[in-house]
Amino acid sequence: MYDYLIVGAGLYGATAARQLTDAGKTVLVIDKRNHIAGNVYTEKVEGIHFHKYGAHIFHTNNAEVWNYVQRFAPFNRFTNSPVANYKGELFSLPFNMYTFNKMWGVVTPEEAALKIAEQRKEITNRPQNLEEQAISLVGRDIYEKLIKGYTEKQWGRDCKNLPAFIIKRLPVRLTFDNNYFDALYQGIPVGGYTKMVENMLSGIEVRLGVDFLEHKDEVMAQVRKVIYTGSIDAFYRFSLGTLEYRSVRFENEILDIPNFQGNAAVNYTDRETPWTRIIEHKWFEFGKDENGNDLPKTIISKEYSSEWKSGDEPYYPINDEKNGVLYAKYRVLAEQEKDVVFGGRLGEYKYYDMDQVIAAALQKSREMLKC
Ligand code: UDP
Repeated sequence: MYDYLIVGAGLYGATAARQLTDAGKTVLVIDKRNHIAGNVYTEKVEGIHFHKYGAHIFHTNNAEVWNYVQRFAPFNRFTNSPVANYKGELFSLPFNMYTFNKMWGVVTPEEAALKIAEQRKEITNRPQNLEEQAISLVGRDIYEKLIKGYTEKQWGRDCKNLPAFIIKRLPVRLTFDNNYFDALYQGIPVGGYTKMVENMLSGIEVRLGVDFLEHKDEVMAQVRKVIYTGSIDAFYRFSLGTLEYRSVRFENEILDIPNFQGNAAVNYTDRETPWTRIIEHKWFEFGKDENGNDLPKTIISKEYSSEWKSGDEPYYPINDEKNGVLYAKYRVLAEQEKDVVFGGRLGEYKYYDMDQVIAAALQKSREMLKC
């Protein structure tokens, strides 16, 4: 009998497994996939750490979490500065003086601020949805060219029907600073995320290719507690209804050229281009292999967003009102469980970043060890 069964070998599961094991508990980790690391999984292709489930850039303001991950991997100095491509016109992201200069020809922060102030006048109330929030942050021109098309492709919903908080993830700056994240600490684990998670799970029993939900009742009888990081609605066999998610599909290509787009991420912000962004993986590690040599080939991934349906991988919870109401009902069931803890993006139906997932798992592990 194990003290804990951890369902899912992603960042939440790996963090909880590490903490509980180090506190002397017996832990078994299972995952239905045939690899660890969940959606942060990387594999080496042509000498490049390929982010199979999409780009992951670690960033945080939480010193505890930053120190924690350093135990499992050294991090490089990668700073995310995506470029937006709107019908062939390129803009710097996030929204900063380079963006405002290209959009309006303004040169000083004062001019940029005036332009934004003028354009945000159309929003007179407190923003009620993503469209109003975006216009009130950066004005209509930027909304139309850099936000509307991208957001509607990514979420498959009108910006008027999306929650305002999504766009608040992006900084708006009156400085020449293309760093996408307002984070004190940022980087990519050298050697890949898979290696980092492998180090987190070192000495811990992991069984891959095991579908918990298929064997739920028998498995739960053999363990004291379960930490479940899959979708909460799937856990309850969708008995109250199905929560909505966005899924992502990638078209990957290995190209026999050294440089396709000169940047890790280019966002296609118009409505017509069918993909939302193209990732060129080698630039997460500056185009070099571990010995510092230039890599001759490159790998790119075109990212397409779609509505999740059974059989797809869920990536993004859709935190709108309707799903919020349904999630709250599942939450009531979850709170009645004495021996099951739900964690992570899918377990908590929350648009978590990696650092928030680790922070939540550290916190939960502490609580569990207290009782
Ligand atoms: N966003 C946008 N234009 C961009 C990049 C992002 O409008 O070029 C908006 C969009 O609504 C998106 C949100 O900002 O859903 C958050 O983007 P982020 O890059 O944080 O999303 P993730 O990397 O998690 O997919």
